[in-house]
Amino acid sequence: MSTAAPTAPAASTAKKWTCDHCGVAVSRMGGEKVELPETWDASAEGTYCLICRRERAAQAALDGAPQGSPLDVRAKLRRAALIEFEVSRRPDHGDGVIAKACRSSVSAVAAARQRLKLPAPGQPCK
Ligand SMILES: [Zn+2]
Repeated sequence: MSTAAPTAPAASTAKKWTCDHCGVAVSRMGGEKVELPETWDASAEGTYCLICRRERAAQAALDGAPQGSPLDVRAKLRRAALIEFEVSRRPDHGDGVIAKACRSSVSAVAAARQRLKLPAPGQPCK
């Protein structure tokens, strides 16, 4: 019996990564070990693909909403959570890039960035 590590290591390899939520799997032909995809997250809670990570972020925001919140309030919370998720996932990306990814507006992304107290990204290299 070995001492159990309290948390999973940040970067690890496995023959196959399977999302605990949707079951999508990442592996390499030939069975070589692959690193956890950059967009995935493996923690004590489980391993999740990007889509499910987004979904969980949105769900967490909805779980925090008061009971019986109207639909539009919930939709707003969900959208804000998705933007916040994207901004914190890649704070170095420009607001415009993230806005596009979230199908949102640049100002909504900038507001999320302020809420999270994340600095504005540097000028992107072109
Ligand atoms: Zn998934």
